[in-house]
Amino acid sequence: MTSDQVLEVFKNTGALLEGHFVLSSGLHSSIYLQCAIALQSPAVASSFGAAIADQYRDGGIETVASPAIGGLVIGYEVARQLGVRFIWTERENGVMTLRRGFTVSPAEKVLVVEDVITTGGSTRDTIQALTAAGAEVVGAASIIDRSGGAAEVGVPRISLATLNVPALSTDVCEACRRGEPAVKPGSRKIFAH
Ligand SMILES: [Zn+2]
Repeated sequence: MTSDQVLEVFKNTGALLEGHFVLSSGLHSSIYLQCAIALQSPAVASSFGAAIADQYRDGGIETVASPAIGGLVIGYEVARQLGVRFIWTERENGVMTLRRGFTVSPAEKVLVVEDVITTGGSTRDTIQALTAAGAEVVGAASIIDRSGGAAEVGVPRISLATLNVPALSTDVCEACRRGEPAVKPGSRKIFAH
């Protein structure tokens, strides 16, 4: 599955919008991405899961782990296709933690899977939680890399598609300069610039 094919699926399912958007950070972007919209189709989740799993078939992966909530659907799908178990981490008082009785064996080979990597923070925190529990994290994967390849997570990392779209403050946003109203996806509110 090529990067273009992945992005085409995102566009076709309405998971990738092009325009003038206000991100949750308050910054503006010409691209809005909502992975959950693409992944609501099990067939799409299955094809992305296969594309990731195919790159680890001979990797000796014993477990797939994902940061909740964003990584759950794709992580589960990758685990299913690799025939290994799936666990997740979640934040407790801001700290990424293994809860719900999930444990790892000493040196258990774990692959961390996320939907979108932006700064890599959630993946790094998940790797840290797993490593602290004794696992050996052998790689990290995401459907989309929003960092343009720049995010470092401390282990080898792959993604199915890379986006390099800057998030801009309003004073340097071209669309704002042209006087185009900015839209906050998921709401009906139009922001005057
Ligand atoms: Zn703008």
